[in-house]
Amino acid sequence: MPVIIGIPRSLLFYKYYPLWKTFFEELGAEVTTSGHTTKAVLQEGLKLSVDEACLPVKVAFGHVQALRERVDYIFIPRLVSVSPREYICPKFLGFPDMVRQCVQGLPAIIDTSINMYRREGDMFRQFSEMGAHICKNPLKITAAYRKARSEMARFDSRVEAGMLPEEAFINREGIPGDGPDHRPTVAVVGHPYNIYDSFININLIKRLEESGINIVTADNVPERLVNSYAGTLNKKLFWTLGRRMVGAAYHFTDNPSIRGIIHVASFACGPDSMTGDMIERKVRRKGNLPFLNLILDEHTGEAGIVTRIEAFLDMVNMHGQASGI
Ligand code: SF4
Repeated sequence: MPVIIGIPRSLLFYKYYPLWKTFFEELGAEVTTSGHTTKAVLQEGLKLSVDEACLPVKVAFGHVQALRERVDYIFIPRLVSVSPREYICPKFLGFPDMVRQCVQGLPAIIDTSINMYRREGDMFRQFSEMGAHICKNPLKITAAYRKARSEMARFDSRVEAGMLPEEAFINREGIPGDGPDHRPTVAVVGHPYNIYDSFININLIKRLEESGINIVTADNVPERLVNSYAGTLNKKLFWTLGRRMVGAAYHFTDNPSIRGIIHVASFACGPDSMTGDMIERKVRRKGNLPFLNLILDEHTGEAGIVTRIEAFLDMVNMHGQASGI
């Protein structure tokens, strides 16, 4: 019987799932995930986490709880840095410890530290450590790592070509939306766990699509453009995800096909409060591009979100008419 590894559908799942899944599967493990976020998952998360945590972390507790009885291991990497000379939010670093303290009846946790601050090459050693939980053969681990990296590169290129992550998880050719498309395009910028988890954002993407809007996200912007726009800042932003959001949003303000920008943030998130402000100031400086700042927590109500989206879409339409688009 293969070892079963559970990967919570939360936090950086939407960014790295193909990498982690391929690696463990190539080593002979069976990989399973928690389901999509629901009210019950959030309720469990609220019971287990500390009050001060942001909504995505509270939700992540609920996903761990949903997996814990049906797997041999839960994969909760201790993410410190995913890019040289940059960090990500310290909540990722502490999450495995918070889970051990707060969740009862856990299976073994694979909490290998992923820290590429010094150099990207350190990742192979860290994956070797991670793989040793499943397999002791270094040749097999090396082959699994290579396969996982190439699957991740394919996933990234599908996302850059315009897919949303859950479309890109399915290994198929072609780009959705190929061909002429006259729908207005709106950019949605935020952490992946906020914009791709439809429960957290109260179905934002679906609501926009049903209103006839074409969506692009920061993840659809090629790395070279993100770097070039983020490079215009006076000082380098050392948060990988924040740098990507700001670089992509600055690019969107220069792109005439973008008819509005929505920034999605978590209440009580330090990085979001800063990057959101930087993006809003840039949008205001560039003119009258419609901008909506959505701040989410577990008390956010559907009615309030719907009203704000409708008002934003009215602005998008008025702006389009005024610009003759
Ligand atoms: S960056 Fe913000 S939203 Fe993300 S885990 Fe950290 S505090 Fe939470």
